[in-house]
Amino acid sequence: MRVVETFEATRALSEGRTGLVPTMGFLHEGHLSLIEAARDANETVVVSVFVNPLQFGEPDDLASYPRDLDRDVSLAAEAGADVVFAPDESYMYPVRPKTSVSVAGVANDMEGAHRPGHFDGVATVVAKLLSGVQPNAAYFGRKDAQQLAVIATLVDDLSLPVHIVGLPIVRESDGLALSSRNVRLSPAERARALVLSRSLFEAAGSFEAGESKAGALTGAVRAAIAASGDIEPEYVELARARDAAIVDEAVEGEYFLAVAARVGATRLIDNITLDADHGSADRGIHLTGPSMLYEEG
Ligand code: AMP
Repeated sequence: MRVVETFEATRALSEGRTGLVPTMGFLHEGHLSLIEAARDANETVVVSVFVNPLQFGEPDDLASYPRDLDRDVSLAAEAGADVVFAPDESYMYPVRPKTSVSVAGVANDMEGAHRPGHFDGVATVVAKLLSGVQPNAAYFGRKDAQQLAVIATLVDDLSLPVHIVGLPIVRESDGLALSSRNVRLSPAERARALVLSRSLFEAAGSFEAGESKAGALTGAVRAAIAASGDIEPEYVELARARDAAIVDEAVEGEYFLAVAARVGATRLIDNITLDADHGSADRGIHLTGPSMLYEEG
């Protein structure tokens, strides 16, 4: 496994079919599931580790984002990566880029509405990574379901020659969706945060029992969160998976029921995929023990 800091070095190490897993580091089992999927389908697996300042609105969030490159390199190697591309900010943005990639519509609601500029930052860095690494396929988690729709739209609209793969959410055994930001939660906050996944699972149960209306599904999520006490969701929405369009009902195809909320100072997002063709929900992959996020040292 090699750690490199330039696109040229990354491409020089890429042989045959190449899979890219873009991350902001502080890897956990969610990221590792993407690396493993890339490993199964490609000759070269590149993991990028870059905390992209363009996609952060709040300076504190950027400053406190957890980082540990040595840890990331050994976890990526264990999961089967061939190359870790870990560029400096000065390499990625020697000057503030004058080009910004903006995906209209798909990026407007939910995360786009609550984090102005966020998806422009995401789309710009992903476009840069795809053009610099030139992978055959790139792997993303459905944890960020709207981000996946933004990137799929970007790739379609610009005819970028890369296959975008979306993979299930990896969760703690108690349901909490893994996120690098979870390490910032106190034990009490972590316990409170559980209501997010629990409320989505409850709504998923009613979807599987035949409820397809957005009002009823989002209402069930809101009610469960309200009953648990002091968490105020920023939004609860039912959206089409393909283009993140907010809908009134889940009929035909895939949807996601999404929630965002602050727990203490930490902003968390979660969602559940609903398959209207089969009347089923994807509750993700549950770990059997605590995540590696909580391992010491
Ligand atoms: P991040 O490092 O948070 O920017 O995430 C990098 C990639 O990992 C994105 O495609 C995320 O959607 C994905 N990811 C993050 N958390 C999870 C999770 N719990 N399960 C699956 N994929 C995830």
